[in-house]
Amino acid sequence: MKTEFSLAQLADPDIKEADRILRACVHCGFCTATCPTYVLLGDELDSPRGRIYLIKEMLEKDRKPTEAVVKHIDRCLSCLACMTTCPSGVNYMHLVDQARVRIERDYSRPLPERLLRWTLALVLPSPKLFRWSLRLARLARPFAGLLPTPKASATPGLLRRVKAMLAMAPSRLPQPGPVGGSVFAAAGERRARVALLQGCAQQVLAPRINQAAVNVLTRHGIEVVLVKDEQCCGALTHHMGRDGDALARARANIAAWTAEAGRGGLDAILVTTSGCGTVIKDYGYMLREDRDFAGPAARISALAKDITEYLAGLELTAQQRQHGDIVVAYHSACSLQHGQKITTLPKELLSKSGFVVKDVPESHLCCGSAGTYNLLQPDIATRLRDRKVANIASVKPDMIAAGNIGCMMQIAGGTSVPVVHTIELLDWATGGPRPGPN
Ligand code: SF4
Ligand code: SF4
Repeated sequence: MKTEFSLAQLADPDIKEADRILRACVHCGFCTATCPTYVLLGDELDSPRGRIYLIKEMLEKDRKPTEAVVKHIDRCLSCLACMTTCPSGVNYMHLVDQARVRIERDYSRPLPERLLRWTLALVLPSPKLFRWSLRLARLARPFAGLLPTPKASATPGLLRRVKAMLAMAPSRLPQPGPVGGSVFAAAGERRARVALLQGCAQQVLAPRINQAAVNVLTRHGIEVVLVKDEQCCGALTHHMGRDGDALARARANIAAWTAEAGRGGLDAILVTTSGCGTVIKDYGYMLREDRDFAGPAARISALAKDITEYLAGLELTAQQRQHGDIVVAYHSACSLQHGQKITTLPKELLSKSGFVVKDVPESHLCCGSAGTYNLLQPDIATRLRDRKVANIASVKPDMIAAGNIGCMMQIAGGTSVPVVHTIELLDWATGGPRPGPN
């Protein structure tokens, strides 16, 4: 794609990067076929190619984002299916991240929208606030029926979103898991020492996931540390264009993990929420212009691994086949398959552990979770969820496995089939408990 940035514009490292990305696009449109919003809405401006044009116009002309730009960028799930499909290697992720930052900086959303986004950015990264907000949502839910029901829309209003949020709050919450600073000793001789990301929403909704990871790792001779002073990885606010917040969190985590590596050594930083893993692996890029953090950020990104990526390098000791012939539909989270290009490893681990693993038709299409997307765009998200659930049902599974809490909650909202994390099944297969509700 031909671009016309001025030399002065190209002096800005972000614009220089955008220019490089835009020039790689040859407008072939292959990406439209796998873009969930284009598949659903059929509007070129809701396709990757359409969005790339909108972003190009905004950046090149140095224009404030228009209402149309904001609408179509907001509808993008950042699922990155377009990056997997693109034959030219267009880095849509870094381009749309930049567009979101500009929208956040230069576009004035209506007050209720600003308040909603501010609240989400405050509450979701804080386990304490998130726990309290879920308790409040539970109390408020019986009254949700008294509110008028707005029509489903690809441009939903505040009321529609609030109702969707209340509906999503779980009816009970598990007890909190272990706190930062906890160390879990390896069983037998220690082979390695790793940090396990505690996550923010996940530790409130399903601490059983990290418990399963600790079980599997320690059982295989790995010492696990939950690093004190670690915080939300920044993914949630990063995807909302709030880069100041996201980068501050990234720096704080880099400092905490680097200090831990200096104290006891770290062979890896393991992540059980693939949405977080994708962003931590991108810390090196996000902080590339930061004189103090560029080097440490690149080192931390190199240490970050999805839990399945790490376990694939170990020989898992399968116990007796206590689970029988369980049919597992494997849902490939977008952040894992498109963001981190981890596609077959989780399925191989499950198959080797004795599960009958089934691929889900249209597995490249997002389930609609996508960070805060199902809260901000509930109608598109629900259509995607229903499509995903129907595809999953077609393989008649006993269980559904996924590597991302957002997808797990989203899919569980549309099916009665148990939805578990891949690591819970691997824990079960190697001697742990059968996965069940919290
Ligand atoms: S597939 Fe790649 S090169 Fe083709 S239009 Fe989409 S982003 Fe551009
Ligand atoms: S990230 Fe997903 S929703 Fe956004 S343009 Fe790419 S394929 Fe479409």
